[in-house]
Amino acid sequence: HQNMIQLKNNFTWEENGMIFKKNHQIIRKKIFSFLSEIEQQNNEINKIHTILIIIAMEDEASPTISYLGLKQLQGNKKFPFKIYGGEKNGKRIVLMTSGKDSTHGVDNVGPQVASSMATIGIHEFDPNVVVNMGTAGGFKASGAKIGSVYVGTKAQFHDRRIPIPKFDKYGSGDYNTTTPTSINGMFKSATISTGSSLDITDAEKERLSKQSQQMAVVKEMEAAAIAQVCQWNSTPFVVIKAITDLIDSSAKTEEEFLKNLKIASKSLQ
Ligand code: SAH
Repeated sequence: HQNMIQLKNNFTWEENGMIFKKNHQIIRKKIFSFLSEIEQQNNEINKIHTILIIIAMEDEASPTISYLGLKQLQGNKKFPFKIYGGEKNGKRIVLMTSGKDSTHGVDNVGPQVASSMATIGIHEFDPNVVVNMGTAGGFKASGAKIGSVYVGTKAQFHDRRIPIPKFDKYGSGDYNTTTPTSINGMFKSATISTGSSLDITDAEKERLSKQSQQMAVVKEMEAAAIAQVCQWNSTPFVVIKAITDLIDSSAKTEEEFLKNLKIASKSLQ
């Protein structure tokens, strides 16, 4: 574990969930205000009819599901994904979560699952826009703070290494994401980096600092995978992530925990 950066993520979902719920109040109020912006940005789309929201974990998704009054739909039994549907402001909303792993009983997470969800979601529901929301780690050195919400400007991979000419750039991805100007100022914007692991090695961190003009501020496990699928279909893709832990923090876990608990408790008042 020598080359692993100490993660401050030994929070239970209760703590992370509380921070995310607080951020959700901000996110869910804003999320529909930028849809007209996306319509304008994409000339081929005259009117958005369907929005596909992808959220990996059930706990992350539950505030949005209840806010939007979505009802669970019959999913395809061949896949673990849960699908919720409803309508808001005349738009069809489809929300997918990744469901549980049948062997280990935990929520499915990560890029492989995210790609599958995006592929099936786009194929089945033909959305005009895909939105990925969730929790993420942040780099303190790049200014990330616990509780901050970021909108992605780019999505890339930090652990997809293919050191062959052209494949190297393909591996890191550097996909464009949609950053509607109407939400500039509401959220910070950042490059988001995706990997299969919750932790990050020194080598990956080194690569991360070199592979993009703008060093990633946010690290999670789904965004770039969904971006790749959206690119195949030219579907505008919006990423919104709330920081629940700092990857490069020197703070002791207990201190971080207490600090987070304070933020989280405040949000419950
Ligand atoms: N912090 C959560 C982690 C769950 S597994 C917990 O303690 O339960 C990881 C999921 O959370 C993924 O969907 C990923 O996108 C997101 N995530 C949150 N913090 C992360 C981090 N520091 N690094 C990578 N992914 C993170």
